[in-house]
Amino acid sequence: SKVLIPIFADQLSHTLSSLAVSEPEESVILMMEVMNEATTVPHHRTKLVFLFSAMRHFCEELRQQGWDVDYVKLSDGKNEGTFRKEVQRALGRHDIDQIRVCEPSVYRVLKDVQGWEAALGVSVSITPDDRFIATKDEFFDWAEDRKSFRMENFYHEMRRKTGLLMEGDKPVEGKWNFDKENRMPPKDKMKFPDALKFKPDSITHDVIEMVKSQFETRLGDVNGFFYAVTREGALKSLEYFIKNQLEKFGDYQDAMVSDQPFMFHSLISPYINAGLLSPLEVCEQIEAAYQDGKAPINSVEGYIRQIIGWREYVRGIYWLKMPGYDTQNYLEADLKLPDFYWTGETDMRCLSQTISQTLEYAYAHHIQRLMITGNFALLIGVDPYDVHEWYLSVYLDAFEWVELPNTLGMSQYGDGGLLGSKPYASSGSYINRMSNYCKDCAYNVKDRVGEKACPYNSLYWHFLDRNKEKLQGNNRLAMPYRNLENMDKEVRQELIENANKFIESLKPSMAKDYL
Ligand code: FAD
Repeated sequence: SKVLIPIFADQLSHTLSSLAVSEPEESVILMMEVMNEATTVPHHRTKLVFLFSAMRHFCEELRQQGWDVDYVKLSDGKNEGTFRKEVQRALGRHDIDQIRVCEPSVYRVLKDVQGWEAALGVSVSITPDDRFIATKDEFFDWAEDRKSFRMENFYHEMRRKTGLLMEGDKPVEGKWNFDKENRMPPKDKMKFPDALKFKPDSITHDVIEMVKSQFETRLGDVNGFFYAVTREGALKSLEYFIKNQLEKFGDYQDAMVSDQPFMFHSLISPYINAGLLSPLEVCEQIEAAYQDGKAPINSVEGYIRQIIGWREYVRGIYWLKMPGYDTQNYLEADLKLPDFYWTGETDMRCLSQTISQTLEYAYAHHIQRLMITGNFALLIGVDPYDVHEWYLSVYLDAFEWVELPNTLGMSQYGDGGLLGSKPYASSGSYINRMSNYCKDCAYNVKDRVGEKACPYNSLYWHFLDRNKEKLQGNNRLAMPYRNLENMDKEVRQELIENANKFIESLKPSMAKDYL
């Protein structure tokens, strides 16, 4: 008898812990395309193509290495649509006395796997997911004796642990964090390198056709699909980024430009999250570019901080706070998401730009996610769970463990400031400073009230006003609350009325309408 090794869509790593302790002669690997996972939320079709194609390519690679892979396609007539039922069916096809599975990345799936032994009558061992810099226990230990968590402290520990950008026990160039140098607005007529695009091979073409026919009503035109679907392609993307974009990444990390969806960003997150690249190898290559004098410290430190700092930190928070983190709603926001999030049809140029590129490429960069779509949902008061469902649906890199803390915690303040120290709320002036969106917008960013006033302006004061009890004690909001207090009563009244009228005019929508 043999060991059955199920591998999930975001476990496409040859170093996976369940494989590392197994031998091909004694094992059957099981890979499953299941409908249940494709329909938890209305995942973008580009994301479905990426994951199914990457799974099929990974399966081929494993077979070439001598592994026996039992691969169940979505279109297989006998496919029962859930992991558990497919594992059960596989037990009937093979002589299995043990299941060995690398720990799933999502709470719901982990709970399911933990129930397999009792339900299926086969011994199940779960191997730890060691593709992160910090183990869960390391994070829990770090969190244990702290009242409040700040990413920065955790990040220093990760620098020490990895030795990245360290000289002995000191940070290189004498500072841990160069974020202040990473906030340049875009320059006029800036030039950007093209994104690296890959031509779909026959496996990807098959998947594109399958996704088009099985998910007819879903968002996303997959005819122009260009993402990498193998480790080899992912490594090329990283190399391309280091050669063409890393140098300027830092300076323009927060900048936004009309019709420039990618700018100097790396587009690497889907590959790391699916397991095609390891976070440490990515950071080591970035550090090497710095040591070779190819990129400045503000770019390199900024990039490495996102990965060994933010990415690890949000994972720790996810596991610390699940179950229950997904339904937190500190500000008691209860509006439905406006329908234009699913269509891009709005006169607000920053939103139409960000959402249209999201619908086209399943991609927007961090500041667009945080300060355009996230900020707007926060200001109008959308239920954080609905916002979470949208982000989980539309982005290529969205897996719950990383998407949920970023959305509900960082962006929507749903956890009341556990993850970040203040709500990322801003009026139109931030957007105007960091982008050229406002230039061609139907609204005027300089106006606070009136027909043509940028809606972010009145909404910002509406947000502060309605959440006063919960937020005015926050030191980082002391200044805006002072301004609100000192504001002329009539002006204040007009702003609130304007915002109310605007919020009432929005057409609500639900994720399930787009399934
Ligand atoms: P770059 O700008 O080139 O950044 C480099 C890398 O740093 C990324 O590839 C990513 O691996 C990592 N990184 C940067 N910021 C974060 C962060 N806050 N958390 C985790 N990793 C980070 N990232 C996801 O991977 N999946 C998500 O579902 C996701 N949802 C988000 C939702 C919201 C509301 C916000 C504000 C951010 C979210 N992020 C998410 C973080 C970030 O926006 C993306 O990682 C980034 O835009 C990916 O594009 P890139 O590879 O070009 O990144």
